[in-house]
Amino acid sequence: MNIGLVAHDAKKKLMQNFCIAYRGILSKHDIYATGTTGRLVEEVTDLTIHKYLSGHLGGTQQLGAQIEHNEIDLVIFLRDAVTQKSHEPDVNSIVRLCDAHNIPLATNLATAELLIISLDRGDLDWREMYK
Ligand code: PGA
Repeated sequence: MNIGLVAHDAKKKLMQNFCIAYRGILSKHDIYATGTTGRLVEEVTDLTIHKYLSGHLGGTQQLGAQIEHNEIDLVIFLRDAVTQKSHEPDVNSIVRLCDAHNIPLATNLATAELLIISLDRGDLDWREMYK
């Protein structure tokens, strides 16, 4: 499956720790991430990540385009709901696309853990029929 990852600056450390914790599951899948998020995850894991441009340079739109082409099966967008910086990409366009295309989306750690465990259990295998 293809997993999309994005983390606002305040959540990047959390994303790194999440990917360390679930490295075993993530390594069985293809990971796509915005530039900085992807680089930071690669630095702390042995995962190979397909990196888009940095979020504010169009990386989020690249992820969105892949969602529209039915090429992403699950999205984890750890957003900073409290102190999001003005240059950081808005989560709303990704939420809209995931809703339009019925793609599982987590915007916080608790849901991200549920989705990644579900993925490993095979609960998202129906996605394969869509492709
Ligand atoms: P980044 O994009 O991973 O390239 O930083 C996301 C963001 O800007 O929050």
